[in-house]
Amino acid sequence: MDHVFPPAVIAALPVAGSSARFPVHRIYCVGRNYVDHAKEMGGTGREAPFFFMKPADAVLPVTPGVVGTMHYPTQTAELHHEVELVVAIGTGGRDIKAADALGHVWGYAVGIDMTRRDLQAEAKKLGRPWCVSKGFDESAPIGPVHRIADTGVIDSARIYLEVNGTVRQDSNVDKLIWNVAETIETLSGYFALLPGDLIFTGTPGGVAAVRQGDLLAFGVEGLDRLELRIV
Ligand code: MN
Repeated sequence: MDHVFPPAVIAALPVAGSSARFPVHRIYCVGRNYVDHAKEMGGTGREAPFFFMKPADAVLPVTPGVVGTMHYPTQTAELHHEVELVVAIGTGGRDIKAADALGHVWGYAVGIDMTRRDLQAEAKKLGRPWCVSKGFDESAPIGPVHRIADTGVIDSARIYLEVNGTVRQDSNVDKLIWNVAETIETLSGYFALLPGDLIFTGTPGGVAAVRQGDLLAFGVEGLDRLELRIV
């Protein structure tokens, strides 16, 4: 190889129950995929969900049983939490049909789509992109990937997030407007999915701001309960 300097290290996540690591290719995110969150963002809850991305190295691995650390980002006074079920792709493809989609899923994780909400609101108003509001460093705290072979298909499970012991988000992934299979069908019509892609599937209602010092606890039933301190 004749790279002019060593390439950046590939972002990767631990795999539950294994010493192996899941290499991250791209991070796709679905917007407005729960009715109550779509409404709290000013929508009707009936619009089609849409996609945005975070860079792969925005992942911030969080280990179960260890309080993770996220640095409060610069340039915001309104950092919001969005707890989400994350789908990990193991087999790529284009134009994947919903009926075949779950065969492309390698596993699941629980993650938070951290958001500079004030910058996102400004971007919406001005018709600007969301990169700085969604794709900043450490904007994707996430737990280990669990093999679908171990978890089975997750289509009904509690999803929740607490801040300093108070429940802020509490829903069920069965309330997704577009389920995982439908999301993969639509997303693979825009992008060729590859092994290592992560899909943040959307957040339920209850998003709100966090401050330095706050302790977040979050999870999806059947996956992990994780803890994260904002510093
Ligand atoms: Mn989100």
